[in-house]
Amino acid sequence: MGAKILEGKPIAQKIKEEVKAEVEKLKAEGVTPCLAAVQVGEDPASKSYIRSQRRSCKEVGIEYKLFTLPENTSKEELKEFIEKLNNDPSITGIILQMPLPKHIDAREAFCWIDEKKDVEGVTPANLGLIAFDMPRLAPPTALAAIRMIEETGEEVLGRETVVVGRSTIVGKPAALLLLQRKFSATVTVCHTGTSKRGKLEEHVRNAEILIAAAGQPHLIKGEWVKEGAIVVDVGMNYVEGKFVGDVEFETAKERASYITPVPGGVGPVTTAILLRNVVEAVKWQREG
Ligand code: NDP
Repeated sequence: MGAKILEGKPIAQKIKEEVKAEVEKLKAEGVTPCLAAVQVGEDPASKSYIRSQRRSCKEVGIEYKLFTLPENTSKEELKEFIEKLNNDPSITGIILQMPLPKHIDAREAFCWIDEKKDVEGVTPANLGLIAFDMPRLAPPTALAAIRMIEETGEEVLGRETVVVGRSTIVGKPAALLLLQRKFSATVTVCHTGTSKRGKLEEHVRNAEILIAAAGQPHLIKGEWVKEGAIVVDVGMNYVEGKFVGDVEFETAKERASYITPVPGGVGPVTTAILLRNVVEAVKWQREG
């Protein structure tokens, strides 16, 4: 029997409706959530991402402002600009658009964002709060991966959970979130070191819950997937004109109990959760 396909769109729609209602409530109280996107230089690849951010914000009533700084903006100038946004009460969320020009280190730049406006959960403060079991603004992609697991209704407690990837925006926060007492999964994190030692297959075969976030097309073979496993594929790899995941979907779906498609799985939910984070950020700022 094939797996149930966890489609992202209906979940995203539900989240957006909740966000829309919260935005209306905030507006009635005189607060308009406003997301500021900062772009340094004009990378053509980020155009469609920006367009989709603007459209999604509009859908739920969030204001969206794009600030495009010249390619030759210095580190100091960008820092100053972000600090201006941090201190501007009309801006309630900040996204620093990737990629940045080579002379600016993204990790350093993330540190300049006020954690209460950090809707992408990229600051060390917000990652630290997850590790502290007190998440406030976690990265939307990690939250989306977990939301997909929650949608199955299956118990996570003590389940062998394998996260492939340890980036600070997906793998690591997803693993830390699943370690929270409210989930209490048994978490293993795999990375290139695991693969170099030839151990990836062994770990994946053991996974009752699998989150694939390596950014490597079809890295995970369908035959490695444990019978009845929940498979969340975060990977978005552009291959021969289309997007494919990190997991071999066709073969994996014959073994898994639930599986997310690529595209149309984690992606739309990530966008919806970003919007939810904009509202969560407003709430945090209002706490003072
Ligand atoms: P990164 O490149 O930052 O991280 C990839 C991680 O995967 C690293 O930790 C890396 O290990 C690990 N990895 C890479 N190759 C292997 C391998 N052969 N075996 C084991 N581990 C491996 O990517 P991101 O975390 O930013 O993104 C991951 C994927 O998720 C990408 O495909 C991206 O496009 C997608 N994505 C999807 C989103 C969505 O909304 N659906 C949003 C954000 C990202 P090491 O640390 O050792 O290098």
